[in-house]
Amino acid sequence: MNIEIIKTNAPKEKPDSANLGFGKIFTDHMFIMDYSREEGWKNARIVPFGRIELHPASTVLHYGSEIFEGLKAYRRADGEVQLFRPIENIRRMNNSADRLCLPQIDEDMAMEILTTFVECEKDWTPSAEGTSLYLRPFMFGNDETLGVHAVHNATFMIIASPVGSYYKEGINPVKIMIEADDVRAVRGGTGYAKCGGNYAASNRAGERAEQKGYSQVLWLDGVERKYIEEVGAMNVMFKINGEIVTPALSGSILPGITRKSCIEVLKSEGYTVSERLLSIEELEKAMEDGSLEEAWGCGTAAVVSPIGELAYKDKIFTVNGGKIGEVTQHLYDTLTGIQWGKIEDKFGWTQLVK
Ligand SMILES: *Cc1c(COP(=O)(O)O)cnc(C)c1O
Repeated sequence: MNIEIIKTNAPKEKPDSANLGFGKIFTDHMFIMDYSREEGWKNARIVPFGRIELHPASTVLHYGSEIFEGLKAYRRADGEVQLFRPIENIRRMNNSADRLCLPQIDEDMAMEILTTFVECEKDWTPSAEGTSLYLRPFMFGNDETLGVHAVHNATFMIIASPVGSYYKEGINPVKIMIEADDVRAVRGGTGYAKCGGNYAASNRAGERAEQKGYSQVLWLDGVERKYIEEVGAMNVMFKINGEIVTPALSGSILPGITRKSCIEVLKSEGYTVSERLLSIEELEKAMEDGSLEEAWGCGTAAVVSPIGELAYKDKIFTVNGGKIGEVTQHLYDTLTGIQWGKIEDKFGWTQLVK
């Protein structure tokens, strides 16, 4: 495919890698292409990073037709830059697009776009411990009419942001609040799609949890409010009596690539991993009788995030004495080891950027 590249004539200074934060600094360029039903994808271009112009009636502003992805480019000790399972992000984006009636992007074409863009912005990949270049592909409906229907015009973009280490002060277990009122998603809805609307609907519970000193919300299923689903922007796993348990992908849970990778690592090492229903009663019982050994969230941003405290209604439970558990630490070391090229990638998950 033809990707036009218009380089900036005012490259920015690269930031100090000690104070990157998350998603605050953007690179010199962005990728953008347009879609129409009649012509398909067109005008693929890499242009200087900047504001975009939208028609005030643009679909995304009124009816929320938007999906996104999140993945990282990692700088290895030898200076090379690599991606982690990017094809999984591309496939998931097409699944999300299908749910939101947004257009598909051919897998090979999407991979070419992603790698061309990352090659262009590669120098922005920081090298300090735990830092990376976060890539944010996203797509939105962009019809210039208020009519409600599946979109005829869409825009696909990728922006990139050098991000700091998630764990600057070491891995500290987080406090999580189990949400008993609001729900994130229901089966048949958009829970399995990575779409902005899911986040818009989650913010209220997230705010309430934050005010009480909790860092994220653990969602229960939307029908019975009985089964564990996932944490804010992470999937969740537990070690109960030696068994690794994670909620099965029921349609209302986001199929995380970190979740999938954790399962594959653990299974390859002989652990029993059960993807099944896990009720709040079962979890409460395991917390009360001490059989809950570890709990952690998993997602691209943090990789693995140990849960040190869980609150449900008026009860507060401490997990593993508020310390990171053995399996959690092992998963963190293994996945980050593969991502930053410190250990052998026997799964073939990494892809070098030219
Ligand atoms: C992105 C996301 C995850 C984690 O997915 P990864 O592919 O592991 O980064 C989990 N839950 C939600 C709601 C998400 O949006």
